[in-house]
Amino acid sequence: LPPDKRIGYAVVGLGHLSLEQIIPALGGCKKSKLAALVSGSPEKMKRVAEMYGVTPQNCYSYENYDKLKDNKEVDVIYIVLPNGLHKEFVVRGAATGKHILCEKPMANTAEECREMIAACNKAGVKLMVAYRIQFQPHNRKLRELVQKKELGEPKFVEASNCQSSANPDHWRHKLKLAGGGALPDIGLYCLNTTRFVLGQEPEEVFAYQYSTPGNALFKEVEEVMSWQMRFPGGIIANCSTHYNVHESRHYRVLCEKGWANMDKAYAYKGQSLSRAKADGKMELHENIGLAEVDQFATEIDHFSGCILDNKQPFTPGEEGLQDHIIMEAIYKSAREGKPVKL
Ligand code: NDP
Repeated sequence: LPPDKRIGYAVVGLGHLSLEQIIPALGGCKKSKLAALVSGSPEKMKRVAEMYGVTPQNCYSYENYDKLKDNKEVDVIYIVLPNGLHKEFVVRGAATGKHILCEKPMANTAEECREMIAACNKAGVKLMVAYRIQFQPHNRKLRELVQKKELGEPKFVEASNCQSSANPDHWRHKLKLAGGGALPDIGLYCLNTTRFVLGQEPEEVFAYQYSTPGNALFKEVEEVMSWQMRFPGGIIANCSTHYNVHESRHYRVLCEKGWANMDKAYAYKGQSLSRAKADGKMELHENIGLAEVDQFATEIDHFSGCILDNKQPFTPGEEGLQDHIIMEAIYKSAREGKPVKL
């Protein structure tokens, strides 16, 4: 689309994700463009605005954020704040009449997600949760392999998303701002991608949680969560997430006649898809190469396309809510030491 026809985005919160991924990606979008900035750091915002050609009148604080209502250049508000602030800014954003794109995890609790969905419905605006993996070609290809049963019936999923963190003062280690520890931040990828790939919803979960006593990083939020999900027909997913080990991000779907494997599954780039297929006594092993795309640009343009064509986004608010319902069951299971039905 020519620039004057593209959907205008106000990016809220100028942290790592906005500055390193989202704002650069908007420059490469075909249906979307950067229109406004919202920040609590005026000096930083001024520098970013100058760099990307955003006018001073299109720069807002968290206090005058609601004035976006009167800005005709803005069609979408993109919330890229700490998780514990998503609900407030989505609800206030919806009241301006702008469509809302919200980073993952959608909020801190399922109850907050319900409020956010209701606010967007009441205002008649679209709401999408930014699950970029669902727009990433290698992950979409794996999903197609599994759902077309090319490797027979799926029976078992192994998924893991782990990294190490070092700063106990960061909001990710404060319960009120983060909503939890490794699970909602990075374990969520195992949960959401497994649901996406299988195209099914879990019926029961069973979880184990641990935090090293005395470690300042894990005073408020969990260090590790390990959990199982049982899907209809008896498919079991074995998932794990850790905040205190070297980075590892992969999953594998084991099927009756083969398996599909994704390395660097949840990374910003570099996904590596392979599969093995049983052929009599032989095993055929194959790497499936696909072109890389900018996941952020693809996801943002998807939402713009939904606005231009008046369609429901592929990952609407209900998708975020479902993950929070399941995460709450995972915490409950870890607390009580027994399986929890959904
Ligand atoms: P950062 O800490 O890097 O940035 C958050 C920004 O939010 C800050 O820079 C600040 O911007 C603003 N902010 C407002 N109030 C607060 C507060 N009380 N404490 C801290 N920051 C505040 O976080 P990220 O950019 O890594 O994460 C932001 C969101 O994006 C989270 O929801 C996270 O889960 C999600 N995310 C998603 C990823 C994905 O791949 N989809 C990857 C990484 C994060 P300012 O100074 O402009 O006010």
